[in-house]
Amino acid sequence: MIITADEDEVLDIELEEDFLKANERMAKLNRRTFDRAGVKVIDFMGSIGAGKTMLIERLAVALRGKYRMGVIAGDTTTAIDAERVAKHGVTSIQINTGRLCHLDAPLVRKAAKKLLRERVNLILIENVGNLICPAEFPLGAHKRVVVVSVTEGEYMIKKKNDIFRAAEVAVINKKDMSGPMGVDVDGLVKDANDANPKIKVVVTNARSGEGIPELIGALEL
Ligand code: MG
Repeated sequence: MIITADEDEVLDIELEEDFLKANERMAKLNRRTFDRAGVKVIDFMGSIGAGKTMLIERLAVALRGKYRMGVIAGDTTTAIDAERVAKHGVTSIQINTGRLCHLDAPLVRKAAKKLLRERVNLILIENVGNLICPAEFPLGAHKRVVVVSVTEGEYMIKKKNDIFRAAEVAVINKKDMSGPMGVDVDGLVKDANDANPKIKVVVTNARSGEGIPELIGALEL
């Protein structure tokens, strides 16, 4: 299933304030809707290639039987991620945002309504891949997760502090690549804690499944 943003649904960040406030109001409404329906919602943010989709696939497998899961995958143009997740028997909805670099609360509301009709009780949202725009647009999720990978280099977290302040959980993925990349994982953990002292940091290798139980714990799932 693919949902495409209509022109009037695209909130343009250049028009600032009012749109941010409108988004925040809708995010609060989303949260009330989720709580009333008894659905937990988690928003995964991070760059293209950080491993968001693979982490969601791992969670889909690990939590099968415990939750009825739905996935909302945001991307500018493709449906690759929703198709990958759907292979695990999870109801997935693609939102194509066109030129928009983040999901927003109205778009998520539209997709979540479809998932609620399927009686899901856990929704994982994969935000559009980048570390800047999604930070300013809460969606109404109970937790926001920022995913970075070791392959993005040692300054990634220092340069993108805002998104770490907006999140409750940080995932440092592709742990196995720290040797080849010459990037110190402990240094990245420290940077995440420096950016946001309250953030829970989990180190993973999504490809092998390492760290997935710890991630489930950090997400309180
Ligand atoms: Mg992806």
